[in-house]
Amino acid sequence: MTTIDSTRLLSRSVPFSPPNITEEEIAEVVDSLRSDWITTGPKTRKFEQEFAACVQAPAALAMNSCTAGLHVALATLGVGRGDKVLTTPMTFAASVNVIEHVGATPVLCDVEPDTLNIDPGEIEKKLTPDVEAIVVVHYAGHPVDLDPILEMARAHDIAVVEDAAHAMPAAINGKPIGSHGNLTAFSFYATKNITTCEGGMLTGDPALLERARVLHLHGMSKDAARRYEKGGNWRYDILAPGFKYNMTDVAAAMGRVQLRRMDEFQQRRLEIVARYDEAFSQLPEVEIPTVRDGVQSAHHLYVLRLETERLRISRDDFVLALADLGVTASVHFIPVHVHPFYRDTYGYQPEDFPVAWNAFMRMLSLPLYSRMQDADVEHVVAAVEQVVRGHRR
Ligand SMILES: *Cc1c(COP(=O)(O)O)cnc(C)c1O
Repeated sequence: MTTIDSTRLLSRSVPFSPPNITEEEIAEVVDSLRSDWITTGPKTRKFEQEFAACVQAPAALAMNSCTAGLHVALATLGVGRGDKVLTTPMTFAASVNVIEHVGATPVLCDVEPDTLNIDPGEIEKKLTPDVEAIVVVHYAGHPVDLDPILEMARAHDIAVVEDAAHAMPAAINGKPIGSHGNLTAFSFYATKNITTCEGGMLTGDPALLERARVLHLHGMSKDAARRYEKGGNWRYDILAPGFKYNMTDVAAAMGRVQLRRMDEFQQRRLEIVARYDEAFSQLPEVEIPTVRDGVQSAHHLYVLRLETERLRISRDDFVLALADLGVTASVHFIPVHVHPFYRDTYGYQPEDFPVAWNAFMRMLSLPLYSRMQDADVEHVVAAVEQVVRGHRR
């Protein structure tokens, strides 16, 4: 185990997940600003094509967030009042909020203890005739066990929507997330594996995405780029009361460069994860994240679970102790069912989803970002070792 003197640890700090932006992104953004087309236009169309090719999706639609993508996905599928939608408590609230937005009722299914992804066995128990869709979340970038879920969905004629906010780039047996034929929403939020500051992408069946394209921009039959192009026409029709969820060309300019750099980003994440795994697997007081055989994780988050019975420190105090040593840790996620709105609306108790609740009480996410230097990684390793050493039973 590395020994470090605390003064060295205290003299520097490691942020949680800053973006990785170079002069290349900046030049592309400036190029968009200098052009006369700053909102949805040619760069957005190119970004959609390049993204679809990258994840082997039949089509893609750029959005101003992943949340917008999930909302439009449910609206496109016609999910609404009187319908139930199965999903996971171990996610960011956005995945569940959109179910409320379309007027449907979320039904939570507990997660699997290793991956913290939705448990297909729990889905099976909660499949009633009023279930219209399942929203799965590839937690921390580890793919959901899609096969049994898609099989149940087919058997019951239910749609599956994938929240792939963490899953770029992830794959199951070499098949990328985004290519499994379901409407799949990716996030380019500031902290995600690739970013456009704010932004998202919806992939899936071209016919469904055509309807999503109408809904994502006011319900208009033609966007501005198509109305103003050569031979275009000012006239349009409103086909549905749609949303305002389009991506700007300024964001797309940044996204295209980030997409080209993704392999470089992923390579670095893999190196950091390997170093963390090596160091923390030596500590019986912590449990390292699992990657199942046959899957490729995007490693969006590095989530440690404390073996609390071996430690004299709570998770909350562990996070504070890391902060004192210059390491910004976080927790992903406060389970949906303990947030006041969901708790009070559906009368949930923390123990209603024991796997998610137990994991939440023990988990913390360590800094993980592609710009992270070896010295930052060693700083985090040393800080975790020091807190564990100081509080072992
Ligand atoms: C970040 C995140 C979202 C929302 O992404 P936005 O692009 O910010 O809307 C949705 N689901 C999960 C699991 C997330 O982590």
